[in-house]
Amino acid sequence: MVLEPNIHYVCQRCTACCKWPGDVRLESEEIGSIASFLGLTEQAFLDQYTRLRTNRQGLSLIEKPSHECIMLDGNACRIHPVKPAQCAGFPNKWNFPGWRQVCEAIPVPVKRGEDEISNPEEQPS
Ligand code: SF4
Ligand code: SF4
Repeated sequence: MVLEPNIHYVCQRCTACCKWPGDVRLESEEIGSIASFLGLTEQAFLDQYTRLRTNRQGLSLIEKPSHECIMLDGNACRIHPVKPAQCAGFPNKWNFPGWRQVCEAIPVPVKRGEDEISNPEEQPS
């Protein structure tokens, strides 16, 4: 669900959302594509890069000792083309009170009558 249909926030790759402590939710249907992208079997990917979520209701990517996501490499995501929906959906499909204070995404008006944004150069997080 798009929260603000007339605005699309374009990610500036500040990486703040990849450094927040907490779960990076991984859905079961996302496992195969990420494992394949990394050149791993699903079991190897699960063993090396995942853990139970804090609430034990599913899987999360693991984090580095610094608490940033294990897939963050500098300011790039190692699995960008196949990253979890939780990552791809922020901040346009979900966000939280006060998110603008910690996210540098730039608002761009959505063209009237079109289901696309005005900025074709967008590179979401
Ligand atoms: S979505 Fe926001 S917080 Fe996350 S990398 Fe992009 S600009 Fe930064
Ligand atoms: S999977 Fe990629 S986009 Fe998602 S939190 Fe980790 S580094 Fe960031």
